[in-house]
Amino acid sequence: MSPKEDAIDILVVGSGLAGLTAAITARQAGAELVLIAESQDVVGGSTRLCDGMILGANTRLQRKHGIEDSAKNFFNEYMAWTQWELPGGLIKAFTEESGPAIDWLEEQGVEFHDLVIYGGSENIPRGVVAKEKGQGIVNVLAAKAKSLDIDIAIGQPVKSLIIRDGAVVGAIVGDDEVFARSVILASGGYGANPVKVAKWWPNATSAGDWLWYMGADGAQGDALDFAEQANARISGFDRGLRLPHPNFVNAQEPYIPGWQIMVNAQGTRFVDESSPYGAVDRAFSLNDNKGFIIFDDQALHVDPDNEMPAYKQVVPAFGKRRSASWNVPMMEEMIEKGAITQANSIAELAQKLGISPEQLEHTIAQYNAGAAEGIDAFGKEAKFLRPVVQAPFYGKEIRPATIAATGTGPMIDNKARVVDHNGDPIPGLFAAGEATGGFLGYVYAGSGNSLAGCASFGRIAGKSAASTL
Ligand SMILES: Cc1cc2nc3c(=O)[nH]c(=O)nc-3n(C[C@H](O)[C@H](O)[C@H](O)COP(=O)(O)OP(=O)(O)OC[C@H]3O[C@@H](n4cnc5c(N)ncnc54)[C@H](O)[C@@H]3O)c2cc1C
Repeated sequence: MSPKEDAIDILVVGSGLAGLTAAITARQAGAELVLIAESQDVVGGSTRLCDGMILGANTRLQRKHGIEDSAKNFFNEYMAWTQWELPGGLIKAFTEESGPAIDWLEEQGVEFHDLVIYGGSENIPRGVVAKEKGQGIVNVLAAKAKSLDIDIAIGQPVKSLIIRDGAVVGAIVGDDEVFARSVILASGGYGANPVKVAKWWPNATSAGDWLWYMGADGAQGDALDFAEQANARISGFDRGLRLPHPNFVNAQEPYIPGWQIMVNAQGTRFVDESSPYGAVDRAFSLNDNKGFIIFDDQALHVDPDNEMPAYKQVVPAFGKRRSASWNVPMMEEMIEKGAITQANSIAELAQKLGISPEQLEHTIAQYNAGAAEGIDAFGKEAKFLRPVVQAPFYGKEIRPATIAATGTGPMIDNKARVVDHNGDPIPGLFAAGEATGGFLGYVYAGSGNSLAGCASFGRIAGKSAASTL
C-alpha cells in the first residue's frame, strides 16, 4: 500500500501547549483527521506544570488596559535582548503571531487574569497570566481538541519518523505505523535527559550534580533524534534557561532576592542581583557559572511581616513570593548543618570560601558605601540595598543549576517548516515549541518567552500544515 492511501491528515507529536495549539489550529483551518500522540500517560507535558505566563504584542488585554504596543516593538526588543544573533524572519513571524495567538487562546476559552505585566525589563508590559496557570491552559485546549474530534493517544510514544524519498510521510507510534500527510514535532525540550543535556548544552553541565530539571519527565529531546533522522539542521546549541540555586532544596526559584549580594570566584559583583532571570543566567555564563551569596547577621533577624522588598518582578495574581532557599528557617538550618559558611569577619569568610580576602573586603565596603547613599554600581534599586555590616557574616556558593527550558532542536523557518542543512523545508515536517531550535537566544527574554513561542509557532505550524493538504 502506498503511504498516502491510508494517511491521516496530520500527526502531532506531543500534547503540551505547542502540540494542542497546532492540532486545534490545523483542524480549524480545514484538516479533518488530526491525531496527537503523547508518550506519557498524562496530557500536557511541561505546560501543565508551568506558571502560565505568556508574552504577546498587541493583545486584546493590552488594548483594554490602554497599552499601545506593536509586533515591531516586540521584534526590536527581542532582537536586542538576543543580540541580533537569531534569524530575523523567524522572530518577525513570531512577534507578529504572538498577540493574535494569545487572543486566540482566549477565544478557545483560556481565562487570563485581567492584567498585563512585565516579563523582564521590557519597555512595554506584554505578559498575560492564565488563571489556572499551565494546567488551566491544558484543560481548556484538551477539551477543545476533544470537541473537534482530535484524538489524543496517551502512552503512545512516537519512536521514529517514516521517510520516503526525502519526505516525511508518517511515524512509528507505539508499535504501529501511522501515515500522515504532515507530522508536527511538538515533543518539548530535553531537560529530563542528562545525556542530551551534556551533548547539546555543555555549558549547563558545569553545575555538576546540583543540576536538576523542573519540568516533565517526557522532555527527553526526541525531536533531536527525529531531526537527525530527517537530516534536519539542528539549531540553538548551548541555549536554554537556567535558574540559580544554592543546593538546599530542589524548588522552582526564579529570582535571587534583591537584598542579597552575589560575587564571583574573584570576589567581585557581576550583576544586579534583582535582574530578570534571563540576564542573571547570562551573567553566570560570563563568570564561570559560579557565584557566592554573601549576607550578614541582619538577614537572620528580619520581621517576616515587615521584611525588605525581595523582588521587583511582581505577579499580583500569585500573591507574595517567598524564597524557598533564602528564608530565615532554611538559612538557620543550613548554617547549623554547615552548608552555609560562617565567619566573624569578611576576610575570614573570604578565606573559608576560597576567595581573595582583600577583594571581598573591597567589594563589600564599596557596596556598603553605595547603600548608604542609595546608589549601586550595578544600578540595583535603592529599596533593595542593605549594607553588610553585622557579624557574623555568611557565604554560600550558588550555581545556575535548575534547568527551566532548553533551546536546542530542529531549525524551523517562518512557516514552522523544519529545514535541512541548506535551509530548505523538509516536505511533510513541521515543528513548534520547546522542541525547536533557533528561537531562544543566549539571554532568555523574560517570563512568558517559551510559552509565547509554543502558542505562536503552534498556530503557525497548524496553519502551514493544513495549507499543504
Ligand atoms: C515549573 C515550570 C514553570 C514554567 N513557567 C513558565 C511560564 O510561566 N511561562 C513560560 O513561557 N514558560 C514557562 N515554563 C516553560 C514552559 O512551560 C515550557 O517551555 C513549555 O510548556 C513547553 O511546551 P511544549 O508544548 O513545547 O512542550 P511540553 O509542554 O513539554 O509538551 C511536550 C509533550 O510531548 C511529549 N513527548 C515527548 N516526546 C514524545 C514522543 N516521542 N512521542 C510522543 N510524545 C512525546 C511529552 O511527554 C510532552 O507531554 C515553565 C516550565 C516549568 C517546568
